[in-house]
Amino acid sequence: MSLEFVYSEKGKRKLIDSGHLFVKDAATEEKTFWKCDQYQNLVCRARLHTRHDKIVKRVGEHNHAGNAARVEVVKVVNQMKNDARETQDVPQRIITNSFISLSQAASGLMPNISILKKTIRNTRRLADRAPPNPNSLVDLVIPNDYQITHHDDQFLMFDSNDGWHRAFSELIGASHPTVWKFISSLKDEQALNEGKIEQYVAGANPPPSKKVYRDTAVRIKRIVQDYDNRDRMDYLRGLAHNFNFKAHLS
Ligand SMILES: [Zn+2]
Repeated sequence: MSLEFVYSEKGKRKLIDSGHLFVKDAATEEKTFWKCDQYQNLVCRARLHTRHDKIVKRVGEHNHAGNAARVEVVKVVNQMKNDARETQDVPQRIITNSFISLSQAASGLMPNISILKKTIRNTRRLADRAPPNPNSLVDLVIPNDYQITHHDDQFLMFDSNDGWHRAFSELIGASHPTVWKFISSLKDEQALNEGKIEQYVAGANPPPSKKVYRDTAVRIKRIVQDYDNRDRMDYLRGLAHNFNFKAHLS
């Protein structure tokens, strides 16, 4: 069975296991290590190891009972937020829909209706509110949410390298529709690639690629092999010519 996740209020990803929720503790290339999300509240010592989308080890016992209803509530509230972002339904309707599928135990644990309505409004407001598009590097403050991947890993990293700054500055100057949309699409792309890599590691063969992509791969390889002969901007520009984000930005 593949892993199932929910997102906390703060957008942190949590792994579901038998009525318990786990948060990411650490990761190696091979494995991800998870700790019970009650590690602080209840000083619970239960841990999990996952590998290739499977739980491979359970370490320690929970010092509290699992609570399937609590997990159900988190899942339903996640779904409500999704509906808030992706539909035009009025809050009352979204809430009604989410209650239909709930067990009695979970219904009793749901936040009250006025809080849920507020959650829906806030979710919609946040979805609409990307930061203003920066006009120069001085204006550029990248919110935390744009710096991490959907899996909570550091994703955007700055170095003090002038070439990189100049390249990013050009990107901002040419930003259309916005640099935030661009970063979001990179995040989506990254999540997709991580998923694919996991599948390949697990033994699935990559699908045969179209000729145009094979040709691009050959060109990129040639540029990479030429790294020592190019200055950094020239190298980056060469690579950039072989990428096209248009489909995601439009
Ligand atoms: Zn626990």
